[in-house]
Amino acid sequence: MSIIFRVRGLATATRLLNPFKVAVIGTGPGGFYTAHHLLNKSSPDKQIHLDFFEKLPTPFGLSRYGVAPDHPEVKNCEEFMTNIMADFKDSDRHRVRFIGNVEIGKDIKLKELEENYNAIVLAYGCTSADNKLNVRGTDSPGIISARQFVNWYNGHPDCYNTENPYKPPPLDKIEDVTIIGNGNVALDVARMLLADPKQHWHATDISVEAEELLEKSTIKNVNIVARRGILESAFSNKEIRELFELKDAKFEPLEEGLLERIATKKLGRVDKRRVSLLEKYNKPISAEEKSRRKWTLRYLLSPVEFITRDGGIKETRFVKNEPVDDPLLPGRVKPTDKFVELKNELVILSIGYQGTSIEGFEEIGIWFDDNKLHNRGGRVLSQISKGETKENLTYKKGWYTSGWIKNGPKGVIAVTMMDSFDTAQNILEDLTNGDYIKVEEGKDIIDSDVFKSLSDVIYWDDWKKLDNYEIKEGDKLGKTRYKVCNKNEMIDICK
Ligand SMILES: Cc1cc2nc3c(=O)[nH]c(=O)nc-3n(C[C@H](O)[C@H](O)[C@H](O)COP(=O)(O)OP(=O)(O)OC[C@H]3O[C@@H](n4cnc5c(N)ncnc54)[C@H](O)[C@@H]3O)c2cc1C
Repeated sequence: MSIIFRVRGLATATRLLNPFKVAVIGTGPGGFYTAHHLLNKSSPDKQIHLDFFEKLPTPFGLSRYGVAPDHPEVKNCEEFMTNIMADFKDSDRHRVRFIGNVEIGKDIKLKELEENYNAIVLAYGCTSADNKLNVRGTDSPGIISARQFVNWYNGHPDCYNTENPYKPPPLDKIEDVTIIGNGNVALDVARMLLADPKQHWHATDISVEAEELLEKSTIKNVNIVARRGILESAFSNKEIRELFELKDAKFEPLEEGLLERIATKKLGRVDKRRVSLLEKYNKPISAEEKSRRKWTLRYLLSPVEFITRDGGIKETRFVKNEPVDDPLLPGRVKPTDKFVELKNELVILSIGYQGTSIEGFEEIGIWFDDNKLHNRGGRVLSQISKGETKENLTYKKGWYTSGWIKNGPKGVIAVTMMDSFDTAQNILEDLTNGDYIKVEEGKDIIDSDVFKSLSDVIYWDDWKKLDNYEIKEGDKLGKTRYKVCNKNEMIDICK
């Protein structure tokens, strides 16, 4: 049953007593782009009540806690979420709420969501674990993951909790760093270590603690190491150019022969550009550049052992790889019997984030494994689809996914956006076909005993207080934003 009546000032709009209720889990780009499409592309006779659930007190996911502080233009995507809240928080058309500092799976169980929402979008990203490296000594002190390092310089509350704060690497006592992996995250980390904190970082929203330690940094050399060749580099041309153009650091020439071996004539446009960039900057270091920090790219090396002495990492031993000579296996490498050691007191593993499941998937029959939720076009598959034959492919009705947890931890924000629109389009299709979870009319999760027992729930207006505070304090310091990093402090300011 749906009773329809006219809405104040909106001649054509109607308000339904049984709006389509959607829960979006996670407020990173995957979550807010899905919501944006749903709210803006739903047919005018459909009213949506959408609740964003976010485990942190703050919205925006990796835009706030992943994207490097010197890439403010990338963070413009946050406006999508801000506009959703401005347009629909108290609108007649739809209703949207931000419910922050609430972790789905722990504070609110999946079963409870199922009892309250017609559709649930899992867009919780892949930021709580790292890919592992199966190499002797990986657990030694002095070996950290890029994820931890990124969280630290971006002021993620996990690193700044009162009970057990993250201990950053002693950048004020070490000279040589190895970064394993050469994707864009590795390059962000390298820029962090190489650029001048005052000139390059101060004006950004980098955490103040990180900036202070970087000012005391004694780092001299950064090696960025990859197991395959130049053409297989995971970084984008834009990111490598940024690193080349740093005033405070100097690129040390590549190992001889690497560039020369590439047959440039056969390359596509992006690869040609990559090679020409490397050629441009692959120049000997001049006398006046000698005092600068050095960095380089190393290729065809796989770590085999982290060598520790006196309780710290001293060297990383690599096996040299060589390309497999088979046109059917382009980019493949195989180990040789030659080894090389790089001196380092810090190793940063930048080999990928890892998706993890939420408590309760097994119980309600959602199929998760291998880094992501199994899905077709964002429609989540059920456990019985395991093994995937035509006969057993079953959707978990009403459950959807977007962003990194939909596809595995990869992809820039533009890709995440397009892909989230696809998920949203399929939700709208199912809405039209009546293919969604049926819930009791008029029920609101906020009235449930579980919800009432939660403390310190952060709503959008609370977050705006913190947002304003951070911008105001940042202004005093000549920064775009002064990030509050401790969760208790955040909550105090929000409230
Ligand atoms: C270090 C780094 C730098 C990057 N830099 C760039 C860049 O410069 N340009 C670019 O285009 N792309 C960049 N990316 C990629 C970009 O960040 C991703 O494409 C995008 O953030 C993925 O969005 P998402 O919503 O899937 O995940 P996320 O952004 O991770 O959002 C997931 C959200 O879910 C929340 N959450 C998690 N678990 C729960 C739970 N149980 N309950 C409630 N909420 C939960 C998290 O707190 C988070 O807010 C970068 C990625 C990384 C890791």
